[in-house]
Amino acid sequence: MSRIDLHCHSHFSDGSLSPTDLVAMAARNNVSVLALTDHDSVDGIPEAQQAAKTHGINLITGVEISAAWHPYNIHVVGLNVDIHHPTLVAGLAMQASARARRAQAIADKLEKLGMPGAYEGALALAKTPESISRTHFGQWLFEQKHVTTVQQGFDRFLSAGKPAGVPMPWASLDETVAWINAAGGVAVLAHPGRYKMTRSKMRLLIQAFKQAGGRAIEVATATEQPDMVRYLGQLAQQYQLAASQGSDYHGKPTPWITLGSYPKLPEQCQPVWQLWQ
Ligand code: AMP
Ligand code: MN
Ligand code: MN
Ligand code: MN
Repeated sequence: MSRIDLHCHSHFSDGSLSPTDLVAMAARNNVSVLALTDHDSVDGIPEAQQAAKTHGINLITGVEISAAWHPYNIHVVGLNVDIHHPTLVAGLAMQASARARRAQAIADKLEKLGMPGAYEGALALAKTPESISRTHFGQWLFEQKHVTTVQQGFDRFLSAGKPAGVPMPWASLDETVAWINAAGGVAVLAHPGRYKMTRSKMRLLIQAFKQAGGRAIEVATATEQPDMVRYLGQLAQQYQLAASQGSDYHGKPTPWITLGSYPKLPEQCQPVWQLWQ
């Protein structure tokens, strides 16, 4: 069976592979439909489209947008977006400049904590100042032996409320969904099980997302427990939202995840790709 992977990252955000290498890996892993969904960026899409032609893969133009739904930081995946749509382009440009400013602020905090050189270190791992992610700082902290795992870098320094945590002025949930809809895409609430919120809060989030114009939720996310996948499948059905699936492959930062690997969508779900077929 060929696979449909609608969530992954290249080195245009915090993934380790180029779009070309990512698409080649998708072909090897029997993925026939692949969405590249870099954080707040569509810059890797043209390269991925070129490679997809070579390998006969159906490349879905995607993006994973960071959004504020206070006090949570939510991710909204856009699938089948027009990457040149001015509303989307302008929105992503704002996010990118906020990212570049945050990178400097994180580095300043780490320096005051006795860890100088973080900005240069993170930038060396990222493609541009605008695409520096906390993952890059986590990798740098690990390489410099300030922490023993990247995860520990988040737990001790980078997560919200930690000494090098910097609050971000991400666009609101409503705005990010509106950009995706303006660009003709399908807005998907990414990995709802990962937000460290109660199930009643999760329902409120899904309601707000649907109200904003979201059309699908990610039900089958790699690394999600079977009971959560079942629960998300029920919520998708209950709120009449389509269901998406994907690996959230990053390469080196999460070596335990395989491109094209994700849990099976529960039977009752409407697969998100039916919305554009
Ligand atoms: P950013 O968009 O720069 O704030 O970085 C968010 C990214 O960091 C996520 O997409 C994950 O890839 C990664 N990440 C977030 N939280 C953690 C964590 N606790 N441990 C490891 N990686 C994380
Ligand atoms: Mn990431
Ligand atoms: Mn995410
Ligand atoms: Mn992701």
